[in-house]
Amino acid sequence: MKIAVLKESAAGETRCAAIPETVKKFSALGGTVAIERGAGEAASITDAEYEAAGAQLGSRAEVLKDARAILCVSGPDAAALDGAGKGTMLVGALDPAGRRAAIDGYAAAGLEALAMEWMPRISRAQSMDVLSSQSNLAGYKAVIEAAALYGRAFPMMMTAAGTVSPAKVFVMGVGVAGLQAIATARRLGAQVSATDVRSATREQILSLGAKPIFVENVAGIEGEGAGGYATEMSPEYQQAQAELVSSHIAKQDIVITTALIPGKPAPRLISDAQLATMRSGSVIVDLAAEAGGNVEGCVAGEAVRRHGVTIIGARNLARSLPADASALFARNLYNFLSAFWDKDAGAVVLPDDDELVKGIRLTQDGKVVHERLLA
Ligand code: NAD
Repeated sequence: MKIAVLKESAAGETRCAAIPETVKKFSALGGTVAIERGAGEAASITDAEYEAAGAQLGSRAEVLKDARAILCVSGPDAAALDGAGKGTMLVGALDPAGRRAAIDGYAAAGLEALAMEWMPRISRAQSMDVLSSQSNLAGYKAVIEAAALYGRAFPMMMTAAGTVSPAKVFVMGVGVAGLQAIATARRLGAQVSATDVRSATREQILSLGAKPIFVENVAGIEGEGAGGYATEMSPEYQQAQAELVSSHIAKQDIVITTALIPGKPAPRLISDAQLATMRSGSVIVDLAAEAGGNVEGCVAGEAVRRHGVTIIGARNLARSLPADASALFARNLYNFLSAFWDKDAGAVVLPDDDELVKGIRLTQDGKVVHERLLA
């Protein structure tokens, strides 16, 4: 089975869907990997390193010819895949919710589009979960960006000229990104507190040495929540949460917000009035910016200053760590494809009735087939 790896063409994309390690692993299974020249450049992987791992390097037309699967990070338009045969799998973060026209294009081109971000969040699929692998890096980078813009130090320092106080960091939303943000801020020496609506996160916050800040008088979501996800909260809860945030946020220097609700706009967690109570020079990184933002006034892709507070509308922070982001993403893809490798056929065979396959298959035999896209 020939597997093609594209040089990414989306604006700002720095990652690559394969690394030398996954090239070797696909070869060990019996596959061949063809990589478009320069595909790893932005992630600091040279063509020579791919070649040494056993890949064939070529032009896009050369790598697409006879490929049975195409690996990508951001989905290209079908027109850019001219030369790919009917039934070829296209595997990557295809953004089915935001790029419907492109998905229709894959169907028209006869490609079998597989959207990795719709991988079911069950134990079996943990190692294939691109949302988690990239969120983890984003949570880390959010703290690093905040630290870079903050005009004070994170750790407490006792010097001959006096003491520097530790930064107070508040993490709102303790999923994958939030947990990594807590861990990173702690390592930098900050005093960290965190909140979530799911009660299961309280233990996780404590285990990372941070202080849980929870709404106590109105019930939140028991345990993990359905599929580990939060839902929209009742008006009573929102009111209680707003009061809690108001009393806490004025004492914080850095806030990292990560709260998301699948299929809904991001919940508004910080109002303009609450911002105005923060000390001038404070920094907020809003990781939910692309979903509408947790912070009033946040602009996706920009840093804005309101009431002396810098609000960064973070966008795809994993792209700013291209080497690690590529490595994790590439392993997610390998873990998925190798789980369905059929030794006798010497190729990936995706059973129609498999939960993972049903979760991510968008198009097949010239048609859009995913129920979420047909609804
Ligand atoms: P997410 O990105 O959907 O949301 C981030 C966090 O924001 C969540 O913790 C959510 O509870 C929180 N949130 C939502 N609304 C909020 C509000 N109003 N106020 C405060 N916080 C709010 O979440 P995620 O990072 O994708 O992770 C969600 C869960 O899924 C976690 O429990 C994680 O462990 C689990 N998970 C499981 C698997 C797997 O089993 N394969 C993979 C990844 C994640």
